[in-house]
Amino acid sequence: MNNQKAKNNQIKISVIGGGIAGITTAFYLGEKGYKVNLIDPKIKSKINNLTPQNGTQAALGVLMGNSYKRSKGRAFSLRNKSMKLWKEWLIQLDSSELKIKFDKPLIKLANSEKEYQSMIEISKNKKEHGIELLDKNSIEFWSSIFEKKLIGGFISHDDGRLNPINLLKLLIERLEKVKVNKIEDNVIKIKKNINSFTRNWEIHLESNQCICQDYIVICSGLNTQKLLKTLGHSIFLESILGQVIELEVKNEVSHWYKWPAVVNYQSINFIHHKSNHIFMGATLERGNKANLLCKEKMLNMNNTAPSWIKQARISHEWQGIRARPVNEPAPLLKELEPGLLINTGHYRNGILLAPSCAEWIGLQIEKDQFTI
Ligand SMILES: Cc1cc2nc3c(=O)[nH]c(=O)nc-3n(C[C@H](O)[C@H](O)[C@H](O)COP(=O)(O)OP(=O)(O)OC[C@H]3O[C@@H](n4cnc5c(N)ncnc54)[C@H](O)[C@@H]3O)c2cc1C
Repeated sequence: MNNQKAKNNQIKISVIGGGIAGITTAFYLGEKGYKVNLIDPKIKSKINNLTPQNGTQAALGVLMGNSYKRSKGRAFSLRNKSMKLWKEWLIQLDSSELKIKFDKPLIKLANSEKEYQSMIEISKNKKEHGIELLDKNSIEFWSSIFEKKLIGGFISHDDGRLNPINLLKLLIERLEKVKVNKIEDNVIKIKKNINSFTRNWEIHLESNQCICQDYIVICSGLNTQKLLKTLGHSIFLESILGQVIELEVKNEVSHWYKWPAVVNYQSINFIHHKSNHIFMGATLERGNKANLLCKEKMLNMNNTAPSWIKQARISHEWQGIRARPVNEPAPLLKELEPGLLINTGHYRNGILLAPSCAEWIGLQIEKDQFTI
């Protein structure tokens, strides 16, 4: 252990919430040598998307970072940083037992002249990020697949998909290596320890245990507002639900060999999954219950669904909740008071943004250590 890691090992940090935000934060901090607990009531449960335990397990894992329309601002910086960090992290995470591939590229098809004009702009401004307008042959191919004369689209060579289930399995395995201690419990209360001369936080668990820590990082999605209320911090998050449908389609219409990692059309992601199966998702619905109308709307693609989708069989479907900050841009990355940080409110792009947000938390703690 080097000097800095040995010093960091004296600092106790608990990360609350074991979705992608919490797991990547715990991994990043563990790598830096801090003494980290990761607390989640489901942290040792089976990871799957048959019955997703959290928003992360329900996600499709699409990373649309390079094709983001802006070229400056916080949202751009987080995306840009994350795309770079994911590349580095995947090399670092690679293990002989578990492998994860970043499937590329991503194709986005325009649904209106206005959308196409914006794609032309993006392709001009983002050439060095691997964005290229589709040529005539490709447009004809996708017009035949979607049975509609399409105006145009672009290919983003370095965007694509990370399978969230494989990613979670790999990260959880790697937590062992960086000595993150997993605690399978529910945090019911957080308290500032006012009896202590040094800064100190108490975490009260459902099992009646109490843990004292130097730092707390809250990554508990919608539950964040409840945990912070007793500390007098008002964070407002609303529940937005997303649905995914797995379709079994007839083989002869699918041309899977030409299918990229992700096709995005009409704001729907299409992901070829296995043999003649495809994932279709995800909707954005207020609330926490799946709405049949939203599912139907996605399936019939505003009455433009091609025959192969109309004839397909739904083989599986699932839903998941995303926490959207009210009146603030997502995600919420804040130091609320010394030693109390949040990495939450990951609404649409939690998988994409996870590494840059984990790094942000790490840098705040590092800065804070210099000033203590
Ligand atoms: C259908 C769908 C498709 C999506 N597709 C994509 C995509 O393609 N690309 C992408 O980047 N994003 C996608 N997203 C968004 C992404 O899934 C989320 O942004 C991300 O998973 C949020 O992660 P999180 O860690 O903040 O929250 P979650 O994954 O919800 O994790 C929060 C965790 O906190 C724990 N917790 C809560 N309360 C407590 C407590 N009191 N004590 C301890 N633990 C607690 C919970 O058990 C849970 O495990 C999708 C989301 C959905 C629903």
